Amino acid sequence: MTEAPPTSAGQALLETTEQRDLRAAVAALGARYGRAYFQRVTAEGKHTDELWGEAGKLGYLGVNLPERYGGGGRGVTELAIVLEELGAAGCPLLMLVVSPAICGTVISRFGTDEQRARWLPGLADGSRKMAFGITEPDAGSNSHRITTTARRDGTDWLLTGRKVFISGVDIADATLIVGRTEDSRTGRLKPCLFIVDRDTPGFERRPIPMELQAPEKQFELVLDDVRLPADALVGEEDAGLLQLFAGLNPERIMTAAFALGMGRYALGQAVDYARTRTVWKQPIGAHQAVAHPLAQAHIELELAGLMTRKAAQLYDAGDDVGAGEAANMAKYAAAEAGLKAVDQAVHTLGGNGLTTEYGLAALLNAARVARIAPVSREMILNYVSHSSLGLPKSY
Ligand SMILES: Cc1cc2nc3c(=O)[nH]c(=O)nc-3n(C[C@H](O)[C@H](O)[C@H](O)COP(=O)(O)OP(=O)(O)OC[C@H]3O[C@@H](n4cnc5c(N)ncnc54)[C@H](O)[C@@H]3O)c2cc1C
Repeated sequence: MTEAPPTSAGQALLETTEQRDLRAAVAALGARYGRAYFQRVTAEGKHTDELWGEAGKLGYLGVNLPERYGGGGRGVTELAIVLEELGAAGCPLLMLVVSPAICGTVISRFGTDEQRARWLPGLADGSRKMAFGITEPDAGSNSHRITTTARRDGTDWLLTGRKVFISGVDIADATLIVGRTEDSRTGRLKPCLFIVDRDTPGFERRPIPMELQAPEKQFELVLDDVRLPADALVGEEDAGLLQLFAGLNPERIMTAAFALGMGRYALGQAVDYARTRTVWKQPIGAHQAVAHPLAQAHIELELAGLMTRKAAQLYDAGDDVGAGEAANMAKYAAAEAGLKAVDQAVHTLGGNGLTTEYGLAALLNAARVARIAPVSREMILNYVSHSSLGLPKSY
């Protein structure tokens, strides 16, 4: 088995020399670790610390963060390249979606100078990580219903609520928690974002058993009157919604990159296999029933990659509104393409598609994550129906 992802001529036309160099350099780093490394650390219950550390030292993890704070001064376009290439090498680093992309973006755009100085250098070089918690058991896809509530106590805040499915809380130094202020009883979302250090008293986490083979775990969080200093609030109390949306576009773009990388990895494995596996006179890849679905998967990944680049470029150009629509579409397209590629790859390997040795079946569940999170396929279709097409709402 080779671990090299398929190359893409389209990328060469659409990316700067610097972006192509970054892609190649990250792909080379990913290839040095490879799928076997990722599977080993996962099986041992460990984390991808070596890869994370090396990627941090090389400036890849903070490529989107401001140079002033140790970042690369580039954008989400470059960070998405990093995640896609590591995924295509079999090492999708989920924490890239939350730590530098959501939390790093929100803090660098809206945090106070102290918050930037405290968090960004560590997020940029990977020495610190931050998780992100918005999902609640009773709100689910409807984040307008979140009830995690912050109330003032002197200059402090007291934060109370529950969150579910929050990734990587155990390995993150802090979690960026989305709550709402107590006085917002109007029913309208008025979110506030708080940085909650991992060991803050009253901040409890319980792992949720998941059918996923990944080093990052998901947690249920219970916040019981968690006392936070005034400076735990990110930015302005009244600018919470704007801040939240600023973080959600990078989240969708990065989830698209996550799905693309995984799909490319699986497709690469399937193509290698189909080239050599011979059960009649020709390798199975000579049969069009095997080749065409792989070709379709390749086309759909390429298309989703184009949409992802469009979304990232709009975001990096400062067009938050245009990026919003494109990021949703990119996440949708990449999740569907990634899942289809993984499914077809498993099928291409026949029985070997389900063996531990080839490790592809484990990707079936992992690839579904991008269809559900951070916003489900149906909620994106709702968004496009209402916002892009102007159709009426049913809910
Ligand atoms: C592996 C993993 C990691 C995650 N990591 C994080 C994290 O780090 N931080 C975080 O905050 N969250 C995280 N999540 C949570 C994720 O964002 C949510 O699971 C997702 O938003 C869906 O919410 P839900 O699970 O409550 O589903 P629900 O909202 O209960 O939806 C269930 C189903 O109903 C459908 N549905 C709901 N409403 C409608 C409607 N109006 N129209 C049509 N269909 C509808 C949905 O599409 C979905 O298929 C993670 C989830 C997973 C699986």
